[in-house]
Amino acid sequence: MKYVSTRGEAPSLSFEGALLAGLARDGGLYMPETWPHFSEKEIAGLAGLDYIDVAERVIRPFLEDDPCLDDLREVLEEAYAGFDHPAVTPLKQITPKLWILELFHGPTLAFKDLAMQVVARLMDRALIRKGGRATVLGATSGDTGAAAIDAFRGRKAIDVVILHPKGRVTEIQRRQMTTVDDPNVHNIALEGTFDDCQAIVKALFNDLPLRDRLHLTGVNSINWARIVAQTVYYFTSAVALGAPWRPVSYTVPTGNFGDIFAGYVAQQMGLPIQRLVIATNANDSLPRAFATGIYEPKTVIATSSPSMDIQLASNFERLMFELVDRNVGRVKELMTELQDTGKLTMTPDELTKLKEVFGAYSISEEETQETIARVYRKTGVLTDPHTAVAIGSALDERRALDQGNTTTPMVILSTADAAKFPETVERATGRVPEQPQRLKDRLGETERCTSLPADYQTVADFISKHSRAGQGEEVDA
Ligand SMILES: *Cc1c(COP(=O)(O)O)cnc(C)c1O
Repeated sequence: MKYVSTRGEAPSLSFEGALLAGLARDGGLYMPETWPHFSEKEIAGLAGLDYIDVAERVIRPFLEDDPCLDDLREVLEEAYAGFDHPAVTPLKQITPKLWILELFHGPTLAFKDLAMQVVARLMDRALIRKGGRATVLGATSGDTGAAAIDAFRGRKAIDVVILHPKGRVTEIQRRQMTTVDDPNVHNIALEGTFDDCQAIVKALFNDLPLRDRLHLTGVNSINWARIVAQTVYYFTSAVALGAPWRPVSYTVPTGNFGDIFAGYVAQQMGLPIQRLVIATNANDSLPRAFATGIYEPKTVIATSSPSMDIQLASNFERLMFELVDRNVGRVKELMTELQDTGKLTMTPDELTKLKEVFGAYSISEEETQETIARVYRKTGVLTDPHTAVAIGSALDERRALDQGNTTTPMVILSTADAAKFPETVERATGRVPEQPQRLKDRLGETERCTSLPADYQTVADFISKHSRAGQGEEVDA
């Protein structure tokens, strides 16, 4: 399988190439040249299989003729061994037509573990094969950093450096990052804001000599391999609910549009997905685009579902690429408009096509609180704020389309354990969610973190001194 850039001006790459590159050189995102297709019989054949077996079958066609293919089975076995539920992503029914797909049984109790644990291992093995090294660098306001640190800890060819704004992440988020004691993990508490962290990370990536010397690479959701790993749970859940013979709809708490795009991929592969509902908090640039045809990201608003406090969804370009039938000229036109004017205008035809599959809703802070409270009253289940935004959106979709009588099951992706957001959950329900044992264990351990001023050169010197790539160390396979 070959991978092509959404802007058509970067060379096409193998899966391994796209895995290691992340962003394409022309600023575009990598996409598979064609969609692998599963027949009804092949989809039916997934029923009753273990998560890892389904993952192997679903991911395999994307790695055809690729050196990574030989690693796939072992990587999947290692990646999901650290999950604390035998089904990996259990599906629970909450009302006659609503199901919750729990994506938070990984080591950091949020859905990013599902892809990050796979991607980190695939990257490490690819680098060892090539005798190379990498330094994974990222800024985090919370969840992504913890998932990256847990996935990259102990990797042979990769170091991980994560900047967080000192004193501005929750205690749980901080401890999830700083209690990891592997020598290839480096936490920097930056004396500044999240924006300062992002600005310094961006400057480091733009310093090309430094970037090349340290082999800097990102962990954000634009990496194609992350999307692929996320298509798997659409298959396991849809098959459990009667696919290929019965269609299923999904509602997905959305920030960078990676998770829901994986649902679109599953649909292109032949999975009978009827609707894909985009759930957002007060950061509503996607629902506004659905209403007006104009995608115009505004200033980010802080909410109780911080992992969705995003206005410019980095994977939206992949959807546009599909919507314009892979016309790279049109993608470039749209992206240039977005860059130059701060907004992008779809044609009426493009908008109609978008709405055929997708719906999009914005849920206020009050509705989020009320939803957490109502779900608790009716079912006894404590939900995290991201999941609550999705439940609210799923109900809005039912009302908007007058689907009270539909027989299509709606699956709500639950992206975090309620225990990660105890204050919000307690405010809504009066109950503090119980911490899973693995969280309790982790939170008690010693913290390791370096405080640095928000100064570019100080941070650059720290990374050069501590990363093995910066020290010119050989890879010891
Ligand atoms: C990252 C994240 C999301 C958003 O996922 P995207 O792929 O960025 O759309 C939703 N919920 C939680 C808890 C997350 O960590």
